[in-house]
Amino acid sequence: MLALGCHLSISKGYAETVRTAHSIGANTFAFFTRNPRGSQARPEDPADAAAAVKRMEELQFAPLVAHGAYTMNLCTAEPSARAFAASVLADDLRRMAALPGNFYNFHPGSHVGQGTETGISQIVDALKAALAPGYPVTVLLEGMAGKGSEIGGRFEELRAIIDGVGDDSVGVCLDTCHVYDAGYDIVNDLDGVLKEFDRVVGLDRLKAIHINDSKNPFASHKDRHECIGDGALGLDTFRNVVCHPLLRGKPMILETPNELPGYEKEIAMLREMENK
Ligand code: FE
Ligand code: FE
Ligand code: ZN
Repeated sequence: MLALGCHLSISKGYAETVRTAHSIGANTFAFFTRNPRGSQARPEDPADAAAAVKRMEELQFAPLVAHGAYTMNLCTAEPSARAFAASVLADDLRRMAALPGNFYNFHPGSHVGQGTETGISQIVDALKAALAPGYPVTVLLEGMAGKGSEIGGRFEELRAIIDGVGDDSVGVCLDTCHVYDAGYDIVNDLDGVLKEFDRVVGLDRLKAIHINDSKNPFASHKDRHECIGDGALGLDTFRNVVCHPLLRGKPMILETPNELPGYEKEIAMLREMENK
């Protein structure tokens, strides 16, 4: 069975979110570790986390793919803001340890004019510090659309971060909207893009996929998600993605502009594609 889910709010706690995910046919989900546009996190509740872990085991859930806040820019120019972002990352990983064995994905950052090389070295520094305690969580760098000064739009940039950290456990989450917007043509040549990813980063690093259509054309560097089949990628691309032998078993997360009923429909549609 596909490891398929969507982005959900954890406002009612982890255990309740597992219930919600299961009720719409998901066997994984994503959630923001804190306010996506701020830095506020929910109070910690170990009993709730333990209940969620137990229920996910019973339901044979695939690993969750938590998402760091958009505001967490590890390579922002101002040193105190950068230090704050690094402290948020470290705190997120500490909190994620209540859900052992799951993934924590985040946007590498925007170098805001400092240059890609400087940005990458700042991201590496923050990651090394946050990974030092060795929490049982795998960190994933999200491949980006390459909007503005965003780092992570090129596979080479993801590779450079991984090399800089020098930790075998750092992985990548590819987002179908981002990768297409970044100029990797998964519509006409998914095999070629995966081959290029394997050459530059290594497919063993690919741990999760964000499943989104794109409102914008190829190589637009825009990052605007669309519902599955309604954008530039189209249904055939998603059929290829969910059926691809190299992507089998990886958690696939919808981040499409939907409420629960829309997600439920997309999950059912993608499961049907896989079964054909
Ligand atoms: Fe993201
Ligand atoms: Fe994404
Ligand atoms: Zn996006």
